[in-house]
Amino acid sequence: MSTVIANGTVVTAEATFSADVRIDGGVISAVGRDLGGPGDTVIDATGRHVLPGGVDVHTHLAMPSFGTETCDDFSTGHLAAAMGGTTSHIDFCIQPHGASLRSALDLWHAKAAGRALIDYGFHVAVTDPRPEVIDEITTLPELGVTSIKLFLAYRGTLQVDDAALFSCLERARDSGVLTMVHAENGDAIEHLMAGAIRRGETAPKYHALTRPPQLESEATGRAAALAEVLGAPLYVVHVSCRGALERIRDVQSRGAPVTAETCTHYLFFTKDDLDRDGFEGAKWVCSPPFREAADHEALWAALRDGSLSIVSTDHCPFQYGTQKVLGRGDFTRIPNGVPGIEERMMVLHHAGVNGGRITLQQFVSLTATAPARRFGLGGVKGSVTVGSDADLVLWDLTRDHTITAATNHGAIDYSLYEGMHVRGVPVTTLRRGEVIVDGGRLIAAPGTGQFLQRRT
Ligand SMILES: [Zn+2]
Repeated sequence: MSTVIANGTVVTAEATFSADVRIDGGVISAVGRDLGGPGDTVIDATGRHVLPGGVDVHTHLAMPSFGTETCDDFSTGHLAAAMGGTTSHIDFCIQPHGASLRSALDLWHAKAAGRALIDYGFHVAVTDPRPEVIDEITTLPELGVTSIKLFLAYRGTLQVDDAALFSCLERARDSGVLTMVHAENGDAIEHLMAGAIRRGETAPKYHALTRPPQLESEATGRAAALAEVLGAPLYVVHVSCRGALERIRDVQSRGAPVTAETCTHYLFFTKDDLDRDGFEGAKWVCSPPFREAADHEALWAALRDGSLSIVSTDHCPFQYGTQKVLGRGDFTRIPNGVPGIEERMMVLHHAGVNGGRITLQQFVSLTATAPARRFGLGGVKGSVTVGSDADLVLWDLTRDHTITAATNHGAIDYSLYEGMHVRGVPVTTLRRGEVIVDGGRLIAAPGTGQFLQRRT
C-alpha cells in the first residue's frame, strides 16, 4: 500500500517547490505532480511545507554525569524529539573506565531497547584510551558506529591527553571513522575553577568565568592542527565563540577535512543568563558556556558561509528542581548541560528563517541534510528525495506557538526558551512512512524506533 502526501510544498536543501510525495515500504518512491491513485492513503498537505525530519547528531539521553543521570531517557527524549519534528538522532555512548567500546555500546543498546520512538545511532566517546581500546576503533564500523568522540575537558573523568587524541585521530582515519572533539582546555579550566572556589566564588556565573573563550579557541586550534597534520577528518562539536571559528576557518582554508557544528542555544543566550536571580542561572550551565551577543552574530554568519554546517542540540537535560540544585553553593557541582531536543527546529526556524538570517533551504540543510551526510546517513535520512526513508515533517509556517515547559513533552522541568513566541510549527511527523505524531498526539508505539547502521 502506498501513501501519498498531496498538495504540499516540498523543501530540500536545494529548492522549494509544489509537489506530492509518494511513499512505498517506508521509502520515498516519487516526488512530483499528481502522484495519488486509487487505493492510496492520501495525507492532504495543502497549506503545509513538507520538510525532511530533523536529524540531531548530538544528544545525551540517560547518560550518567555529575553523580546523576540526564533526566530524559530513550522514551521521554524521543517523545520530545518527535513532537519537535526530529525523527532521528545520534546519541553519545560513553565508555566507562575499564570497559571495552563494544561493552559500552551494549549498555547503550539496552537503554534504547523497547523504548525508541524515532531512529537512533551511537557515537562512542573514548574516555579510557588504552592501547587495546584504540585498536578497537577499527572494529566500530562493523557495529554500525562510524564516529568517536574525545573530550579535551573534564579532567579526571572524561578528558584525554594530546597523545591519545593523536593516536585516535590516526586510527580513526585509517578505519573510515570520524573523530569528534569537545574542545576546551580542561587543565587550565581545572586551575581556574579551583581558584574561584578558594575565593568563595561559588555562584553559577563563575562557571562561565572559569571557562573563558580563549580556552575553547586554543583547544579547537590544537585539535584542528593535529587533524591537519594527519589528514584525519575532524568534527568540532558545540562551537560557541568567534575565536574557535577563526581556528576552524584557518584549517578549512587549506583544505583540511575539518567540519563543525554549533548548538541551538549558543545562538540565543549569553553569559549574563548565568547571573540570573538566586540560583536560576544554573539552568544555563553547560560547556562550553554561553558567551557574548557578538558571538551570536559570528555564529549566524558561519552558518551562512558554511564554516559551520550543522546545528545540533547537545540535549543534556538535568531537572532544575532535583538535579541542577546539586551545585547550590559550589558551581563546579552543577550538572553541565541544557535541554533543547524539542525546541531546536522551532526556535532555529523562527530566529533564522523568519528573522531573515538563513533561508528555508539552509534551515533544512543545517537541521537534517548536512548532519545525515556527515554522519554516514546520506541518501537514507535527512532529505525529501527518492530512495530516502520517508522521515517527513509537515510544517504549518503560519501557526503561532509560545514555548513553555508546561506544554513541552520531555521529562525536563524547564525550558531555556520559556515564553518565546515562534511562528511555524511541525504539525504531522512521519517516520519511515508511518505517522508518529499528528496534531500534538503521539501515535508511535514504544520500541518501533530502529538502530541506524551508519556507513563510513
Ligand atoms: Zn554533548
